Amino acid sequence: MRYRESGSLDTSGVRDTRGSGGRGGGRGLAVGGGGLGLVGLVVVVLLQVLGGGEGGSPISGFSGMGQDATVDNSALAENCRTGADANESVECAVVADIESIQDFWSGALGADYTPTQTVFFSGSVQTSCGGATSGSGPFYCPADQLVYIDLTFFDQLREQFGAQGGLFVDAYVIAHEYGHHVQNLLGINARVTPGETGPISGTVRLELQADCFAGAWARHAETVPDDSGEPLIAEITDDDIDRALDAAGRIGDDFIQENLGGGTVDQDAFTHGSSDQRRRWFLTGYESGDLRRCDTFATEDLG
Ligand SMILES: [Zn+2]
Repeated sequence: MRYRESGSLDTSGVRDTRGSGGRGGGRGLAVGGGGLGLVGLVVVVLLQVLGGGEGGSPISGFSGMGQDATVDNSALAENCRTGADANESVECAVVADIESIQDFWSGALGADYTPTQTVFFSGSVQTSCGGATSGSGPFYCPADQLVYIDLTFFDQLREQFGAQGGLFVDAYVIAHEYGHHVQNLLGINARVTPGETGPISGTVRLELQADCFAGAWARHAETVPDDSGEPLIAEITDDDIDRALDAAGRIGDDFIQENLGGGTVDQDAFTHGSSDQRRRWFLTGYESGDLRRCDTFATEDLG
């Protein structure tokens, strides 16, 4: 994956709270013990996606750290000025990804798309959906409509999940989370019964649709114009797609249960879909580039 060297980056899609140190600790919390982080990931993401419980209420007692934490984008803005910076730096690449993903959705949905920000946090974070730590993995909170990520998750993907990783894998992760934002804006998550699990559950359909949306963005990423009228992303290669499929296979429920959880696959507990399903739906979006093909609620054949 390559960004257009002369492309201009804009950090307005990010709230960088890392300088504030988070609440309750720094990087020591970043990597949970063994599968614990993964369980956390599944549970928290499930909760966030569904927006259930207290997270759904804007008047809950949480002071959302995503909103209230000290946001200081000055270092990020200093470091991440151009596409050349994105080619050299993970955090600058994520800034570029967020721009490209939101340009895509603005083009696809027009006025139905409302841009939102990604909170960069370190260690732990308070959100309108409750507290989370890095071990939870990146997530979207419907109650405050923000994406949250500790960028050390990308290291975790390689080190704990064994993924090959790379800038495009990072972009896939971000695009998946923005897919949840789109679902929230379109009211798609309202179709799902909170807490429902299983291989054809609404919960899994939401997750697979977010993968499909990520694939659809990737198909169009090299042509989606930024504010200057030129695409910010110059190239996505076959190797990038292979790496995304490798990552998708390592965050499938069966892979996680088998390799990072208790060792036994329990389909009834699926929340995100199997490795095969996740690969399939990313590819469906990528190969077709057609959002209509991402209606995971309209088919009995989820793969
Ligand atoms: Zn998800």
